[in-house]
Amino acid sequence: MKLKSVAAALAMCSSFIAFGAVAETVGISMPTKSGARWISDGESMVKQFTEAGYETDLQYAEDDIPNQLAQIENMITKGVDVLVIAAIDGTTLSNALENAAAADIKVIAYDRLIRDSGDVSYYATFDNFKVGVQQATSVVNGLKERFPDQKPWNVELFGGSPDDNNAYFFYDGAMSVLQPMIDSGEIVIGSGQMGMDKVGTLRWDGAVAQSRMDNLLSANYTDKQVHGVLSPYDGLSIGILSSLKGVGYGSGDMKMPIVSGQDAEVQSVKSILAGEQYSTVFKDTRELARVTVGMVDAMLKGGEPEINDTTTYNNGVKVIPSYLLEPVSVDASNWEEIVVGSGYYTMDQIK
Ligand code: BGC
Repeated sequence: MKLKSVAAALAMCSSFIAFGAVAETVGISMPTKSGARWISDGESMVKQFTEAGYETDLQYAEDDIPNQLAQIENMITKGVDVLVIAAIDGTTLSNALENAAAADIKVIAYDRLIRDSGDVSYYATFDNFKVGVQQATSVVNGLKERFPDQKPWNVELFGGSPDDNNAYFFYDGAMSVLQPMIDSGEIVIGSGQMGMDKVGTLRWDGAVAQSRMDNLLSANYTDKQVHGVLSPYDGLSIGILSSLKGVGYGSGDMKMPIVSGQDAEVQSVKSILAGEQYSTVFKDTRELARVTVGMVDAMLKGGEPEINDTTTYNNGVKVIPSYLLEPVSVDASNWEEIVVGSGYYTMDQIK
């Protein structure tokens, strides 16, 4: 009897330990809550990791690099089992990740590549070059539709944050479409400002984009119309549109220029419906979370994470095996099907 109860206690104990071992913790470090997508990313990951039996520690760094570093160091000290990081500045994490590696904590770069570190195992993201191709393609389609007889089209270019590796992929993807048209004279960059060093927007800040657009308009467009603006992110597009509206675009005979975007933020979908922003790019963050949970699960259980790209993302130390999801171009013709039909938003959120 006594022996039996000892055995039962041991069995209980070992199942408790087994259960404890399963509940591993995932440290999730997100850049900021200022873009709605990162909030969705965080929520989707917490939901899906929890469903898969993990604990989560989700932190937002409000676009402050020391803050993100401190949050990551803290997660390492607390002993998380794996780190999922969307970096603010993809080049600042090398030391922190050395500490993670020393503590045997594996790291996944989430959406944004972490550069200059050998301690990154996998990268889950979208096809970032294609995002840029889609942005520029929609600008060109919009120019043909809204300004068919006004070639050459006057266009201005905006880039994302120069410390975000994605920004270069978006810009290069867009230029793969625009450069041949600039070379052929169909498109003119009125200000002459080209290249990420000239058109980048630090920390993806909409106010910075708005004031750059103000300057571009007053310096180059007092006697001619701007027809299109390549914008890599909805938060910049809203600032650019404010600037354009401020000098009369979108009213009278000053047609609104074609402005692209990214992330299908609610405000931008509404703007597309109002005929202001022309397009955006939808990236389903629920899917990115799903891919990431799959990667973590495989890594921690000793399996092979699913990847579909082993050549594109060299982080300066090595090529990081990646999984790239498909972005979707969204404009007035398909927004309902894509963002409401997929259940990403409800109609009430948009109308
Ligand atoms: C993301 C975009 C986002 C941008 C600004 C990029 O790294 O890929 O989806 O619009 O950051 O937050």
